Amino acid sequence: MYKYCLECEWQASTDSGYSESEVSKEAIEHFVETGHTVDSLRLPPPVIIEN
Ligand SMILES: [Zn+2]
Repeated sequence: MYKYCLECEWQASTDSGYSESEVSKEAIEHFVETGHTVDSLRLPPPVIIEN
């Protein structure tokens, strides 16, 4: 999971070692502190290529 702010450079990602719940919590805290809109991006599921 990857979350990012639409209004500043803030971002949080499970790639940084956070769990999904921690990323969500960070995003909520950023919104509460700044009033900024935080959007989330989920990587699409892997595509299975069939021959
Ligand atoms: Zn922000």
